[in-house]
Amino acid sequence: MRIRKEESVSEVSSFTIRLNFHGDLTFFLKSEAGNKILERRLGEKTSVKDVIESCGVPHPEIDLILANRQPVGFSHILEREQEIDVYPVQSPPTLFPENHLQVRHLTKFLADGHLGKLARDLRLLGFDVVYDRDAQDRQLLAVMNIENRALLTRDRWLLMHKVVRHGYYPRSQDAAEQTIEVMRRFDLFCAIAPFTRCLRCNALLEKVEKAEVIEKLEPLTRIYYEEFRRCAGCGQIYWPGSHFDKLRARIEGIRRMLAAESQSENQR
Ligand SMILES: [Zn+2]
Repeated sequence: MRIRKEESVSEVSSFTIRLNFHGDLTFFLKSEAGNKILERRLGEKTSVKDVIESCGVPHPEIDLILANRQPVGFSHILEREQEIDVYPVQSPPTLFPENHLQVRHLTKFLADGHLGKLARDLRLLGFDVVYDRDAQDRQLLAVMNIENRALLTRDRWLLMHKVVRHGYYPRSQDAAEQTIEVMRRFDLFCAIAPFTRCLRCNALLEKVEKAEVIEKLEPLTRIYYEEFRRCAGCGQIYWPGSHFDKLRARIEGIRRMLAAESQSENQR
């Protein structure tokens, strides 16, 4: 008697997924500009994360996913027609607060090689940012994982890498605006500590007696300045000289932008 073999592959007929992108996630939908609802026709079971990323939106930007109005995780499998709502980190906090996918407050970062000015601004405000202009992608991802840092990059493919847990894609190309974006995304406003971190190497600065560093100072600096800080990492010495005024002006500029932004939000 011949035994008929069963088909081992279960056939899934094709189906349509409707994705509704909320808030500023539409920023990533450039190819279909102005359209926040996209449709994807699928021929096989696919995770909701893969379908969302196929639309150009990196997963670290997504805080809440609803499938037919119920919260799901990134690994949720799509196998029939569904309505998917995708929310950014600034999604309404009252909407399924237990099911948000992103950590709101993080203080350790890693900036890719194109974000040197952003890294410098964040360090100026006291934030811990690893930055190496020449680092390769795989080195960035390794440091990010080992030190549990949030990845800052404008390379959306890098941000979509499966090992990335926390990250952010600065929308603006202006470093001061990017700095404010990062502070808003990671809730850093209460953690600002200007002039506490080395701009060159990211290590913390420590107060040091003038006598300890006097040998390394220029003649006029020896005369005019009494307060010094030294980097615990690279030994760079900082004092409130003319470069300090420029840095202070930079911080004030960022603070003014912040104040203007919160004023316009209050008026909305
Ligand atoms: Zn240093």
